[in-house]
Amino acid sequence: IVRMQQLNKHFGSLHVLNDIDLTIVPGEVVVIIGASGSGKSTLIRCINGLEEFQSGSLVVDSNELLPHGKSTKALQTIRTEVGMVFQQFNLFPHLSVIDNVTLAPMKVRGLSRDDAVSNAKRLLDRVGIADQADKYPSQLSGGQQQRVALARALAMEPRLMLFDEPTSALDPEMIGEVLDAMRELAKEGMTMVIVTHEMGFAREVADRVIFIHKGEITEQGHPEKLFDSPQHERTQSFLARVL
Ligand code: ATP
Ligand code: MG
Repeated sequence: IVRMQQLNKHFGSLHVLNDIDLTIVPGEVVVIIGASGSGKSTLIRCINGLEEFQSGSLVVDSNELLPHGKSTKALQTIRTEVGMVFQQFNLFPHLSVIDNVTLAPMKVRGLSRDDAVSNAKRLLDRVGIADQADKYPSQLSGGQQQRVALARALAMEPRLMLFDEPTSALDPEMIGEVLDAMRELAKEGMTMVIVTHEMGFAREVADRVIFIHKGEITEQGHPEKLFDSPQHERTQSFLARVL
């Protein structure tokens, strides 16, 4: 569902992604780890066209994104097919929970309000916050807000979900409820790319863990192999710091 080849991304003189090759198959759960500034966010933002890249090729669900953002049509399709959950929940503060979740399906997918609302209620129930539908984001805990963000992304029926440190802004006691919802989604077969520092979660849920260092994929593999017997010295020293 994702085929990235020799992708390069620069911010001015900074070479942020260096010849990245990454293929993701449907149903796969991929966790990306690496130090701060290594390019994790930039990498997943390239996948849904939030960041342009300068060279290489990128196909997401049969839509080809071209270097320098020259693919407006593909970009529009990809934005509707790829869901994203950010560290900061990015909910619309002036909209109720239910309106946050129904807005895009009504505007972009053309669903009727009734259909959008019944879908939204089903999704809110699935992430365990059906009873919060009429509240506003500011009235919810961080963990609840992040589950609204998840329901909102799922409401577009994405083929692929991207997560950029979805639990990093949460108090410890709320991390579990968000990870539980993500674990359920993985079980149901959603294709997911997740940047996280939750190594226990990665070990349990990931099919593959990718370690990025300074914009390059240094090492990747099954979580047990990568965590228990990392081959590369950089992976070893990173894991020694975080595990
Ligand atoms: P963190 O774990 O702190 O979130 P990260 O691995 O997600 O880090 P990125 O956010 O992808 O790292 O950033 C990679 C590099 O690109 C960093 O050196 C960062 O300063 C730089 N960078 C990111 N966004 C921009 C931007 N919009 N303009 C210029 N440089 C940027
Ligand atoms: Mg980041």
